[in-house]
Amino acid sequence: MAEQLRFDGQVVVVTGAGGGLGKVYALFFASRGASVVVNDLGGSFKGEGNDTKAADVVVNEIKKAGGKAVANYDSVENGERIIETAIKAFGRIDILLNNAGILRDVSFKNMTDQDWDLINKVHIKGAYKCAHAAWPHFRKQKFGRVINTASAAGLFGNFGQTNYSAAKLAMVGFTETLAKEGAKYNIICNVIAPIAASRMTETVMPPDVLENLRPDWVVPLVAVLVHKSNTSETGGIFEVGAGAMAKLRWERSSGLLLKADDSYTPGAVLKKWDKVVDFSNPQYPTGPNDFMTLLEESMKMGPNEQ
Ligand code: NAD
Repeated sequence: MAEQLRFDGQVVVVTGAGGGLGKVYALFFASRGASVVVNDLGGSFKGEGNDTKAADVVVNEIKKAGGKAVANYDSVENGERIIETAIKAFGRIDILLNNAGILRDVSFKNMTDQDWDLINKVHIKGAYKCAHAAWPHFRKQKFGRVINTASAAGLFGNFGQTNYSAAKLAMVGFTETLAKEGAKYNIICNVIAPIAASRMTETVMPPDVLENLRPDWVVPLVAVLVHKSNTSETGGIFEVGAGAMAKLRWERSSGLLLKADDSYTPGAVLKKWDKVVDFSNPQYPTGPNDFMTLLEESMKMGPNEQ
């Protein structure tokens, strides 16, 4: 039998932990020995209102089961206060799960600045503020684990979610760069695109599908990624739900190489368009340098056909 992954002596901050995925994260890490900061603003799924009850209920459940937890009711936009709660209550922070989120679904035609700004504030600014406040602690102790939360809507687009899609894909770039900056300090950062039954999905999915999407089934992957034994899997993008999990990466067509001179015209591109979009011999770039190789090759070429 596999050894149980434990988090004894560690402090985990879970944002948006009053319900859905955040709640199951909080309960899990507390049950595995961690002290947990249960953050939740307690508003509606559209980001309206606030209530201390959401976080309190989860803290009480953890305490009843013999675990350690403290509530925080700030919006993630004030992430420094959430991290401060961890330091004041437990003296440290080891793991940050940037999970809080809201939806303001509306077709692009009808989107208001408020719909756009609020989504960006909660998802992007919220993740930034929490990670930024935790970062000096992570660097100093040479240990930190971060999970950011993207979405299939961000990876692939979804009708009525331009604001949410943009913010969720931002989590990918944010994570990839955090992973690079954190590597030297044993700060491991990954991003997940989960799928789970919650108040966010209960209005858009049928009950029989939701039954098979228990939020608890997102937890094992997250636990593996943030455990101290993971010292190399960083900057990854993972889809996860209902017992399935998979890693995503970038794929690039083998591409079109043209000589960059006067013969490099739209007509020359059009003539060989099939090559631009040909994935029969793909490459899997991991950094900007991979594209530089193509640039160098194109410089060596002869004039283009018109
Ligand atoms: P949920 O609505 O059940 O949970 C989100 C929690 O975040 C709520 O308890 C809410 O009160 C809290 N919250 C919202 N704004 C906050 C703020 N400003 N500060 C602090 N807390 C705040 O939804 P969920 O499905 O559990 O979603 C969790 C995360 O997963 C979100 O980031 C969501 O976008 C993402 N996600 C979920 C799914 C899914 O299938 N459920 C799919 C893709 C992405």
